[in-house]
Amino acid sequence: MSAIILDGKELSKISEESIKERVSKLSEKGIKPTLATVLVGNDPASETYVKMKRNTCARVGMESIAVELSETTSTEELLKTIHNLNDDKNVHGILLQHPVPSQIDERLCFDAIDISKDVDGVTCLGFGNMSMGIDAYGSCTPAGIIRLIEHYQIDVQGLNAVVVGRSPILGKPMSMMLLNLNATVTICHSRTQNIENIIKNADLIVGAVGIPRFIKTDWIKKGAVVIDAGYHPEQCGDIDLNNIEEIASAYTPVPGGVGPMTINTLILQTLQSAEKDNI
Ligand code: NAP
Repeated sequence: MSAIILDGKELSKISEESIKERVSKLSEKGIKPTLATVLVGNDPASETYVKMKRNTCARVGMESIAVELSETTSTEELLKTIHNLNDDKNVHGILLQHPVPSQIDERLCFDAIDISKDVDGVTCLGFGNMSMGIDAYGSCTPAGIIRLIEHYQIDVQGLNAVVVGRSPILGKPMSMMLLNLNATVTICHSRTQNIENIIKNADLIVGAVGIPRFIKTDWIKKGAVVIDAGYHPEQCGDIDLNNIEEIASAYTPVPGGVGPMTINTLILQTLQSAEKDNI
């Protein structure tokens, strides 16, 4: 039996259509779902990511407000910007593009985002709530992965899930989301020993390492579900996907798997925030 392709490109396209309809319903009531993007400095990759997010907003009829701050911005200045956006009734979601220049206390600034506008799922409070099973916007990449898994009706309950990576935006929230779905979760990181053997026992693997093709095809158990969150300029992810369709039961392609779900989840969560505002 050939592997199921967990097609994030397709699912995000379907989702965009339904988001468009919901945005148009809100617009009829005079509410324009609005995402504020905050970009600090001139990092070209960050500029591209913010542009992609704003383009997606435009595509579904949502508003976006671009706040651009200089490379020399201080923590206090950024906090002031975030507080102003928190107070702005027309803003439903705030995206602070990561990373910010090193003089800024990024954690303090993330945590200054009002929980009701934390549509990128970056606050400690949001993470805590999500982990405890309390309603919260999830960090967009892992939340997008969960949506993909659920769309393809993959039941992770009882599976031996291995997440490689423990970053605050990806590995950690991913692990908690899988745990909340009753998977048995192992988290690997740069100090983990015998990583190959741990992965060899995994029924579900999430690659979130940031190293091209770090996880080798021959570490993957036959029939495993393979999720590759990585994306590198050489058009590959963190997992070597060579021959993967003969090994995995389901897998995310790179590109076209996890990537499109991240932005789609950000847009969806901004819409949900605007809808809550309307209740
Ligand atoms: P990150 O902050 O650099 O974290 C990488 C994680 O991998 C860390 O926890 C690190 O462990 C671990 N690691 C590094 N080297 C390792 C090794 N040799 N063995 C085992 N673990 C190791 O990266 P991230 O932001 O989580 O991103 C991870 C990947 O996802 C990247 O490829 C990135 O491009 C991709 N990504 C994709 C999207 C998307 O929209 N598709 C969004 C975000 C990220 P320590 O904690 O011990 O240092």
